[in-house]
Amino acid sequence: MAARNGLMIDYDFCTGCNSCVVACKQEHSYPVGKGGINLVEIMTPLPDDRIRIDYIPFTTAYCDLCYTRTTRGEQPACVKHCQAACMYFGTLPELAAKMEAKPHCVLFTPR
Ligand code: SF4
Ligand code: SF4
Repeated sequence: MAARNGLMIDYDFCTGCNSCVVACKQEHSYPVGKGGINLVEIMTPLPDDRIRIDYIPFTTAYCDLCYTRTTRGEQPACVKHCQAACMYFGTLPELAAKMEAKPHCVLFTPR
């Protein structure tokens, strides 16, 4: 059985630029309020009174992993347009192996 595909985001490098959100909407012509990926901002107070801010993109029920693009051998729209090059598309085993070396990542497996 072929391995399932997924999307991995190394959010240590995510700047919260929203390019992935816009690229997804454009690729699928989603209307306002609908899209395959959203962005959240998480603020974590640190013991030394500093604050860590993380931007974490997460896929929604509308993400189809850019099926049309990826079956043509292209990268998903969000991956192609990520300004920080911190998004990866691949099989789950490939992405899980990549995560071994990275401290702050999320892995999505739509459907
Ligand atoms: S993989 Fe495609 S459908 Fe999924 S969030 Fe990225 S651009 Fe949107
Ligand atoms: S395009 Fe890349 S850097 Fe920008 S918000 Fe999305 S994941 Fe983060």
